[in-house]
Amino acid sequence: MEIFYHSTRDKEARLSASQAILKGLADDGGLFVPERLPEADAGLSKWKELDYKQLAYEVMKLYLTDFTEEELKSCIERAYDEKFDTEVIAPLAEAEGAFYLELYHGATIAFKDMALSILPHLMTTAAKKQALKEEIVILTATSGDTGKAAMAGFADVPGTRIMVFYPKNGVSPVQERQMVTQKGKNVRVVGIKGNFDDAQSAVKKMFADTALREELKERGFVFSSANSINIGRLVPQIVYYVYAWLQLLKNGRINEGDAINVCVPTGNFGNILAAWYAKQLGVPIRRLICASNSNRVLFDFFESGTYDKLHERDEKDGSFKAERSFILTSSPSMDILISSNLERLIYHVTGEDEKKTAKFMEDLKETGAYHIDEAMRERLKDFRGGYADEARTVAQIGKIFRDCSYLIDPHTAVASAVYEDYRREASDDTPTVIASTASPYKFAKTVLEAIDPASADKEAMDLIEALHKASGMEIPQAVEELRNAPVLHDIVCEVEEMPEEVKRFLK
Ligand SMILES: *Cc1c(COP(=O)(O)O)cnc(C)c1O
Repeated sequence: MEIFYHSTRDKEARLSASQAILKGLADDGGLFVPERLPEADAGLSKWKELDYKQLAYEVMKLYLTDFTEEELKSCIERAYDEKFDTEVIAPLAEAEGAFYLELYHGATIAFKDMALSILPHLMTTAAKKQALKEEIVILTATSGDTGKAAMAGFADVPGTRIMVFYPKNGVSPVQERQMVTQKGKNVRVVGIKGNFDDAQSAVKKMFADTALREELKERGFVFSSANSINIGRLVPQIVYYVYAWLQLLKNGRINEGDAINVCVPTGNFGNILAAWYAKQLGVPIRRLICASNSNRVLFDFFESGTYDKLHERDEKDGSFKAERSFILTSSPSMDILISSNLERLIYHVTGEDEKKTAKFMEDLKETGAYHIDEAMRERLKDFRGGYADEARTVAQIGKIFRDCSYLIDPHTAVASAVYEDYRREASDDTPTVIASTASPYKFAKTVLEAIDPASADKEAMDLIEALHKASGMEIPQAVEELRNAPVLHDIVCEVEEMPEEVKRFLK
């Protein structure tokens, strides 16, 4: 049965999957959601013997119903190939009583590759299906990892251009180097004088700017998005949660029907939302543990039912009085106060009420906050929030390395610490999958501070060598390649100048 998509804020326009992928964001600023959530019939264990690509096909075809078998399989084949350094694509590693789902074996060594290696293929296939005449312009705000992964996916793809905005002082040195050395005739990278939220809000504003859209359409361009607001990003991410559960089943770590928990280091709420969709599909997930760093707006939300980007919750009296500030941490891809994909979950737990959702988003824009009611909180009862501050994050990297000789990056460490606290406080021994979202090499300085502080006082590329020495972990090819890569992009602009930069790029 075909599935159509509509905005979280208005159900009037129904789009096919390929139309929703091309558009990225709805004209009213809402996010596309499937009008019903697919369920896998007759249980999931029938997929136990499938490899990653075969499983990806079974899962994705439930959502992307207007793609033919041939189209979808071709996209999958081209995405999950030798760009990944393991055929398993998403291996599970056991450490300290948890299963780390390593999502960083792709070209840019962060989990964004899981979806961004396939999105360009989905999008160009969708453009053909819809007989699109215009050139697609991908506008992307990045907190560090999306930008590189999107550019790697779209570089020199005919009929597309890609422009990435990143916070000039808000990404790791390896992340920045990866971006400013990006090759390709159709790519542009711009640093902005602001943080990720500034970049994301400005990009969303351009999407909603009818005059700008019209102007560009006349010149033969249409905007789309590679951010996790695009449904074409979200659907491929559902696959690895199904895969993780099946691997545990296959390896005899769980029995048929056994539940797992998942714990996800969260920023824009895309990855953990994919886990929630996996649960709706039929994966028995008991708890969805949402791990935040010091930017703990989501923790406050799950504790209280209030989402407040301007004020922090006092853990003693529960009041929202103290001003919340945007904190730059060692897990920069989670330095986010406006988690876009939460809007999709909000929509589902309002009972799919688009008017109510639109009102919440209006409140967020006008007052910086919204409050959900008890009935909605009840529907969120599978979620738990937790957070780890900077000191705890570094300590956790050191602890897991010393105890298990297993190295994790700061984002994964946030989740690891939050899971440890949850497990103790809830006395819950359900097997737990922790999403491991980046290679430790992407954040070498922080990781070295945790395992060998004496050698952490070095410059970017020397840190890589030092980390290799201290950990014995192999240096990924993607990092090796950065050593001698020339810098090709050096534009920095103010947030207000972003639309001008876009027009300049499209001259
Ligand atoms: C993007 C990212 C996250 C956050 O994922 P969301 O889907 O935005 O919640 C966590 N860790 C790393 C390394 C990332 O790149």
